[in-house]
Amino acid sequence: MRTPFYQYDLGILENTLKSIEECTQLHSNWHVHYAIKANANPLLLKHIKEYGLGIDCVSGGEIQVAMDNGFPASSIVFAGVGKADWEIDLALKAGILCFNVESEAELDVIAERCSALGKTAHIAFRVNPDVDAHTHANITTGKAENKFGIEIPMLLPIIRKAIDNPCFIFEGLHFHIGSQILDMEPYRLLCQKVNALQDHLENEGIKVNSINVGGGLGIDYVNPEQNPVPDFKQYFSIFESDLKLRPGQQLHFELGRAVVAQCGRLVTKVLYVKQGTIKKFAIVDAGFTELIRPALYGAHHKIVNLTSKGELQKYDVVGPICESSDVFGKDEMLPETHRGDLIALLSAGAYGEVMSSQYNCRPLPPAEAGKF
Ligand SMILES: *Cc1c(COP(=O)(O)O)cnc(C)c1O
Repeated sequence: MRTPFYQYDLGILENTLKSIEECTQLHSNWHVHYAIKANANPLLLKHIKEYGLGIDCVSGGEIQVAMDNGFPASSIVFAGVGKADWEIDLALKAGILCFNVESEAELDVIAERCSALGKTAHIAFRVNPDVDAHTHANITTGKAENKFGIEIPMLLPIIRKAIDNPCFIFEGLHFHIGSQILDMEPYRLLCQKVNALQDHLENEGIKVNSINVGGGLGIDYVNPEQNPVPDFKQYFSIFESDLKLRPGQQLHFELGRAVVAQCGRLVTKVLYVKQGTIKKFAIVDAGFTELIRPALYGAHHKIVNLTSKGELQKYDVVGPICESSDVFGKDEMLPETHRGDLIALLSAGAYGEVMSSQYNCRPLPPAEAGKF
């Protein structure tokens, strides 16, 4: 395999999916939708489909890929603040499970497209619950200053407008507070917000069929080998204990990162070892074109040398791209590293391959199944 390439351990993916299944199978009204934006590789989608997960999409392209990979439209939910007309049309014609509507303006356009196509739309409103997920600023989505969702004080008239329009079947409420969430407190707060909002809507005579609590569960980027499967038990048990569902209500989850992050790694080759006056650089053949999370979020992926077993030395591990942000790690302790060594960047299954680009006219990385 030419380097750099993505490698997926489908055994780890299976164990992850089994754990989700164990936590959810006793609840016939719970539905997990895999957030396909985390990784749309067909190798992974095949297994995810076998475990009966639905799909959470944020674009028309994702809806198309989900259906091309055999996911039924009736398992697809569709979020996003900027749904284009063609994307709405695609979703209406396919007959997806639910639009998660993020503004009144979007509601009006969906109504227009329903009339034009003679379709009805199942809709939920994405609510901005003003909960701080205490995660990186660029991946927090549930605060009033974020662009996502409709703020609670503005919600009621918009719900009434939807209920009064025969184009729509009003399903319920959708939330998604952020990503890489490891502290469970924000999820407890979310449950409290949902409970209060449900009481309020009930008093207003509004019937809610479904609650969608989004995704965001984090994974262990520091010790991925020790913790390849996220703590789904802890996550799901919070909703079991703290969320007051009404009889017959459906509960939807949208997990992305937690499903696929640990089953993927980026394998790259050392091109050069360069000794500076104060630093030693291991220059590898992957850059932010293959894995952008370090450059985009300051994220860190554990770096291991798959070839060398020598004595530990300190390296800055950097890519070949002509940007100073093209750095995977500073002062990394690695066994003595040589040209030709294979280096793996771990926990790269989510927001890795799918975010790769062709900047510098580089080819997109290939992918294969393998065992870690
Ligand atoms: C990205 C996204 C998710 C999944 O987030 P993860 O942090 O990968 O679990 C879920 N729902 C919506 C609406 C999203 O945009």
